[in-house]
Amino acid sequence: MAKYIFVTGGVTSSLGKGIIAASLAKLLQSRGLKVTIQKFDPYLNVDPGTLNPYEHGECFVTDDGAETDLDLGHYERFLNTPTSQANNVTTGRIYQTVINKEREGEYLGKTVQVIPHITDEIKRRMLLLGETGKFDIVITELGGTVGDIESLPFVEAVRQLQWEMAEEDCLVLHLTLIPYLKAAKELKTKPTQHSVRLLSQEGVHPDVIVCRTEHHLTEDLKRKIALFCNVKPNAVIEAMDASSIYEVPLKMLQEGLDVIVLKKLHINGYSAPELNKWQSFLNKLHKPKGKVKIGLIGKYVELQDAYKSILESFIHAGVVNDCKVQVINVHSEHIDSGNVADQLKELDGLLVAPGFGSRGVEGKIEAVKYARENNLPFFGICLGMQMAVIEFGRNVIGWKDAHSTEMDASTTHPVIALMDEQKKVKKKGGTMRLGAYNCAIEEGTNAHKIYGSLEISERHRHRWEFNNNYLNDFTKAGLIPSGKNPVNGLVEIVEIKDHPFFVGVQFHPELKSTVENPHPLFVSFIAASKNYSEKKESVKSSAKTITA
Ligand code: GLN
Repeated sequence: MAKYIFVTGGVTSSLGKGIIAASLAKLLQSRGLKVTIQKFDPYLNVDPGTLNPYEHGECFVTDDGAETDLDLGHYERFLNTPTSQANNVTTGRIYQTVINKEREGEYLGKTVQVIPHITDEIKRRMLLLGETGKFDIVITELGGTVGDIESLPFVEAVRQLQWEMAEEDCLVLHLTLIPYLKAAKELKTKPTQHSVRLLSQEGVHPDVIVCRTEHHLTEDLKRKIALFCNVKPNAVIEAMDASSIYEVPLKMLQEGLDVIVLKKLHINGYSAPELNKWQSFLNKLHKPKGKVKIGLIGKYVELQDAYKSILESFIHAGVVNDCKVQVINVHSEHIDSGNVADQLKELDGLLVAPGFGSRGVEGKIEAVKYARENNLPFFGICLGMQMAVIEFGRNVIGWKDAHSTEMDASTTHPVIALMDEQKKVKKKGGTMRLGAYNCAIEEGTNAHKIYGSLEISERHRHRWEFNNNYLNDFTKAGLIPSGKNPVNGLVEIVEIKDHPFFVGVQFHPELKSTVENPHPLFVSFIAASKNYSEKKESVKSSAKTITA
């Protein structure tokens, strides 16, 4: 039977509950336990797929096609195991289920209420993954902050589950903030005391308190928190700000978080933590031998969470290549034919990001053109790939109005067109082409070299596609469709032969890169960028020698 850990947050949002949950999961996994993490979000959207990245950061997509919270990306990157639809539940989904059941007559004669109907549905979903028999431990992260009106039913569900389960079958971890007051030169525990009191008023008492802090907590301070929050002093865990999120599992190991959890859950016979690979990843991360500058061309670049998985994939790929990837954000709306060279000339590689709608697309097309003409490594993801196709259509083939019908419905060269199956779609939620699909790779292509395989599977989130009516024209002109869906022929990868790295993919490789399995496309793109940078440097230094 699975054991359950619930992670709540207090004082403020953005404390990194997802990272703490993922770090604890990593430690338990490293001791031989099978762990999964799920997130319960208190908003009313059925899933975050309909949310703008400005609202909620990136939308992470699972193999089974769920549009989920970006924390699921952290869970996968840390644990190296896939999540699924069941790992992310929102208030919207809970209510939708209950209301549908009500309409079907399942509660006939009864008043349908938050308690017990909504809380029962929350509890049912909280237990689902544990009941599969696949996991020893299920960690449930509750989104939001304790005290929020909207998270009350979730906390109540946790209270009831705690009451129903044996003491040793569940545990509550509360993450809080210990602010430092500069003027007083003091760390303050009062907000934590209040947030634990708030949680207790709702009937849930934490077993472990993890304290985010910018300064070390003294033993005295830990005792004080323990006393006033009614936990044992060793259950007060310091979570100092870390230079990388990937440091956090090791910091939690030093603090003994995993041991406290294992004790409380009466789990015996676990092995010593096996974190050698993780440690060597960190060693390389902290001692890069070189640096590459990668331009991230997008329209949400001012908001880092919008491209979370891409940024993390760069970190993984940088480590493989022994170099630091410095990401230079370039706002696609600010690029035009007059300034493109100035904006991109310092870069060693260019990634054109996914996106929706017409804002900034002309800038993206200019950026692709620059990369293609200047042999600058180019990597286009989803919309980025579509922009590469449009650019090639316009500037190599000569179809000046080539476009995607997403942006220009009346173009005479719709090189990117709405997929047939999308034409009848009216509802916006969960209706894109989502999740994992197979892709057959053309032998001898760059994609083949990169993947080392002829059959791959990648995750998707799009409505438009490469228009196969133009396939011959593109192939003849030198844009190679090096990966296709084996069932319907949809072009999944395009590349250019005589270019150091020019690859566009319709899918989202960034969703599958993990610490243990950095994605081959990112690894090769960074390798090509490193090469480009080294060549550039040697040209510069020989130019210097000549002038000297
Ligand atoms: N807007 C494009 C489409 O729907 C690209 C989507 C994306 O980049 N995720 O096809």
